[in-house]
Amino acid sequence: MKASSYLIPTTKDDPQDAVVASHKLMLRAGLVRKSAAGLYSYLPLGLRILKKIESIVREEMDDAGALEFQLPILTPAEIWKESGRWDKMGKEMFRLRDRHDVENCLGPTHEESFCTLVKPMVRSYKDLPINVYQIHTKFRDEIRPRFGVIRSREFTMKDAYSFHLDEESLDKTYQKMRLTYRRIFARLGLSTIPVQADSGNMGGSASEEFMVVSPIGEETLTICGSCGYSGNIEKTPVIAASILPALAGDIEEIIETPGKKTIQEVASFLSVPESTTLKAVAMSYDGKYVLIFLTGDRELNENKLKNFLGANELRPMGQTELTKFELTAGFIGPGFKENNELLVLVDALVNWDAGYVAGANEFDKHKKGVKLSKYFLAAKVQSIDLAQAREGDLCPNCSSPLQAEKGIEVGHIFKLGQKYSKAFDVSVLNDKGKATLTTMGCYGIGVNRCMATVIEQCNDEKGIFWPISIAPFEICLVSIAKSVEDNARIAEVYEGLKEAKYDILWDDRDLGPGFKFKDSELIGFPIRLTMGKGFLEKKEITILNRKTMEEKTIVYNALSDLTQEIDKIRTELKQSISESLVALN
Ligand code: ATP
Ligand code: MG
Repeated sequence: MKASSYLIPTTKDDPQDAVVASHKLMLRAGLVRKSAAGLYSYLPLGLRILKKIESIVREEMDDAGALEFQLPILTPAEIWKESGRWDKMGKEMFRLRDRHDVENCLGPTHEESFCTLVKPMVRSYKDLPINVYQIHTKFRDEIRPRFGVIRSREFTMKDAYSFHLDEESLDKTYQKMRLTYRRIFARLGLSTIPVQADSGNMGGSASEEFMVVSPIGEETLTICGSCGYSGNIEKTPVIAASILPALAGDIEEIIETPGKKTIQEVASFLSVPESTTLKAVAMSYDGKYVLIFLTGDRELNENKLKNFLGANELRPMGQTELTKFELTAGFIGPGFKENNELLVLVDALVNWDAGYVAGANEFDKHKKGVKLSKYFLAAKVQSIDLAQAREGDLCPNCSSPLQAEKGIEVGHIFKLGQKYSKAFDVSVLNDKGKATLTTMGCYGIGVNRCMATVIEQCNDEKGIFWPISIAPFEICLVSIAKSVEDNARIAEVYEGLKEAKYDILWDDRDLGPGFKFKDSELIGFPIRLTMGKGFLEKKEITILNRKTMEEKTIVYNALSDLTQEIDKIRTELKQSISESLVALN
């Protein structure tokens, strides 16, 4: 490909509304352009990268025995009503009516569509297991699209769904997908950490997210340097080292705390550590109510609470509700007026026999020395793990201290169980001729998010350095020549490389060398060849490894002199990818 007939609209300055490296660089390198909030057009260079990523994903999925489909993006409301998600999905689901006034939505995910499609095609246990997938557009009307294509409204997802006769078969495919994902990310040059994402109803490793550690990540993961445990902080169990005794004294007494409502205000007013205070959180869930006590230094993990309650919706109680239960906001503590409609839960880190500072259930008053054992019956009030984990907590596996890191989720694998097969009655006849409900798994990868995340990991002050596996072109040839004859001599080399099937872009544009060098470094072609005066006078070609910025000059007598050197760098660049693949086997 010649740059003179290509489109390379690079820019020098950072675009205004881009805050993260990948977003800035994708715009500056001319890979994408924003068309509206959360909507991006891919330009030729960007599309080449996206297609290369798709190819890797496709190769690995096909290798794992998955079957590729392509389903409509527009999906009828009817199937979403059948699964019950039409009402549950909320505003992220982009809904629209067609000319016949039929309700539809732009698919944010395709469990419903695939279930309806696959159902009549699988009849016998002999048809199973089956793993179906597509690489296609999804639409989610994200409330806050941001970081460019990392969280956009329209994006490409690889989504796969597997159907099985039993749990054992599901587990086999799940494990295969887990390995497939690790291979895919390794081939993309992305280092990811699979973290446990749901210990919910199905236990153990029923769901894992593939995270890329990055300061711009919206998720927090906990990592154990000792045993290798990793989990989403939302799901990390909090293990008490030994429940610390609270220090706030043993004898209960009322203290005036005028205007001190928050834990921080109370603790600093009384000069006690926050861990010796009790925090009360009043929540409403699915039309019911719960009051939770935690030590003041801990945050409630809503996910754990939701899982425990089996709740769909969770929100803080409003003033009317607090009034109904005679709860005084900011001053709630044990001794509040009990009510059968109000469930009480205590976080497992609270020591029932230690005296805490807690609300006195009166305006502007707290109490010291409050012991839960005096107020609650352990048989009635459950003590469970409801606290958000944090750095320094103990590893649930080996008890070493955990680290906390920010991470970007690039993929997710999930044992779905029978939720959707039940809703759509996807069953087969088993070996005894008896109708048996299938069990399912689902597996997603954000293709565009992967592209941006690679840039987050592979950039320097000059721009991007693409892993060779997904670079827009592997090689960029920068020529510095004016005359037709000189250009013809360079063209000969370029044609030779093209003929030999090298993935090469020739920057033959009539621009200054500085400009062309900058562009090639910004866009991030892994290998750059420079052919200018040195070549025209002394047959010298300079070869640059973009990642290391190491240069080497060779003398060109035959094409093989050049291809040998290129192949050496290509092998080097592919080395780390093959090494990480080998490590997976
Ligand atoms: P997130 O928590 O980031 O919103 P999710 O849990 O909603 O992700 P899934 O439904 O599991 O994501 O989708 C599978 C994959 O699709 C994700 O791992 C991610 O890579 C990608 N993805 C999800 N939402 C977006 C988005 N708005 N823009 C780009 N990629 C996305
Ligand atoms: Mg989401």
